[in-house]
Formats: sequence, structure tokens, C-alpha cells
Amino acid sequence: MKIKRVWLDESSAKCFSCRLCETLVPQVFEVSDKMTVKQDADFELYENEVIYAIENCPILVIKYEATN
Ligand code: SF4
Repeated sequence: MKIKRVWLDESSAKCFSCRLCETLVPQVFEVSDKMTVKQDADFELYENEVIYAIENCPILVIKYEATN
């Protein structure tokens, strides 16, 4: 799998800035008033950590697109 894109999807809930994603993968996620994905984030290098953070966001608002 290769992660192509990661983004915040607030269609079902709003990011409440708990900072869990940033704590888990500060190289990829940044949280101020809400989560943003760093411009130069290396999804390949931190793939397992990114997936872990996505799966553990308490309200599941981080989405990703990947190729096999
Ligand atoms: S883990 Fe989810 S709710 Fe918490 S800051 Fe990250 S995106 Fe927002």
C-alpha cells in the first residue's frame, strides 16, 4: 500500500483538537485550532504511524487515499 493523500473530513464530526494525531506522528500532523497535514509530510516513511493515528482518532475524521 502507498498512501497518496491524507485529509481532514469534517462532514460527520468536527476535529476538537485533542492533538492525538500530532502526538503520534508530529512529522505528518499539526494541530492548532484543528488538524492540518504538513505540506512536506512523507506518508511513505511514516505509513504505519499514519494509519495508526487515523484509526485512533476518537471521532474518525482523518481520511486517506492509497494505492496497492
Ligand atoms: S486525533 Fe482527530 S480529533 Fe484529535 S486532533 Fe487529530 S484529527 Fe482532531
